[in-house]
Amino acid sequence: MTATQKKYFTEELMRWHHSANTRSLPWKEEKDPYKIWLSEIILQQTRAQQGLPYYLGFTQAYPDVHALAAAADEEAFRLWQGLGYYNRCKNMLATARYISSQLEGRFPETYEGILALKGIGPYTASAIASFAYGLPCAVVDGNVYRVLSRYFGIDTPFDTTEGKRRFSELAQQLLANDSAAYNQAIMDLGATVCTPGATARCGDCPLQKKCVAFRHGMVALLPVKSKRTEVKTRYFHYLLLLADGQLWIQKRSAKDIWQNLHEPYLLEATAPLDAAGLVKHPGYRSLPVPKGGSPAYEGMLRQRLSHRVIESHFFTLHLRGTIPMPGDNGNWQPLEQLKNLAFPKTLVSFLEKKLYF
Ligand code: SF4
Repeated sequence: MTATQKKYFTEELMRWHHSANTRSLPWKEEKDPYKIWLSEIILQQTRAQQGLPYYLGFTQAYPDVHALAAAADEEAFRLWQGLGYYNRCKNMLATARYISSQLEGRFPETYEGILALKGIGPYTASAIASFAYGLPCAVVDGNVYRVLSRYFGIDTPFDTTEGKRRFSELAQQLLANDSAAYNQAIMDLGATVCTPGATARCGDCPLQKKCVAFRHGMVALLPVKSKRTEVKTRYFHYLLLLADGQLWIQKRSAKDIWQNLHEPYLLEATAPLDAAGLVKHPGYRSLPVPKGGSPAYEGMLRQRLSHRVIESHFFTLHLRGTIPMPGDNGNWQPLEQLKNLAFPKTLVSFLEKKLYF
């Protein structure tokens, strides 16, 4: 690749950003590092339009880092509900409390200082460093890999050590003096014009004239990923134990998906079970439920996560009264209290359908 090709890239990208980039999002002109950090955490693994109401909800409920640090876990998880990847929320709370108590509420002002915070990787650190402080740090995310690999015709897989190094170095070389505007521009171009697969709008692209992928008909082939992530299905069976207007609810604490969220009694199996199969499950047999009672099947909901599909099957069992339950991470919750707890998205859908909310 030539110096001319690089110069053209940066100049045309910046020109497009100032004249034709109409993507408007509330955090774009923000200079408060707290709000920029909040937006970046919310947008990890999340599309901007999906993250927008969460950003507005959090900034309204917690206008500064001290307010977020003082929030009850349960309340913050409830606001996060439906966004997935709940570790992000957990790390966000830990970081807010650290900044509030150890740094007197002041956000670190160097790339290294930002990177040292919990839940922050190189991409997020570069984004905060450039957007909040104008530091010369180039962001490299999925949008950036796509634009760079196509424009320069690079087929090195971006998820390899070599690919990551190559794209980061290139991104850093292309950075304009106004790093914040440059980073915003390349991410917006990837999100709105140089989009995945065959959806790219090359006719509207300011880089088309010197784009290698466009000239050689390789747009749909780039960028290259080395491995496909195998998506496995997990089969959850939720037994809704109902007694005296209460439902047995437990908190997920193991190192697993949906950590810290709530759920009814769970029986996991390697394949879907019907009611006859469920009563033979060791988790069911360990319950002191009266003999002869039969769980009623209520239906199934499927949720796709990044590496997993969760197939949740729901059963209800009405009891004459509460029973002692195994474990110490749950209790009997009055149905009208359920709306105060944070549940995974699938469970919210089911519980709403059953009018428990
Ligand atoms: S011309 Fe097409 S492939 Fe090349 S950078 Fe622009 S949108 Fe992407």
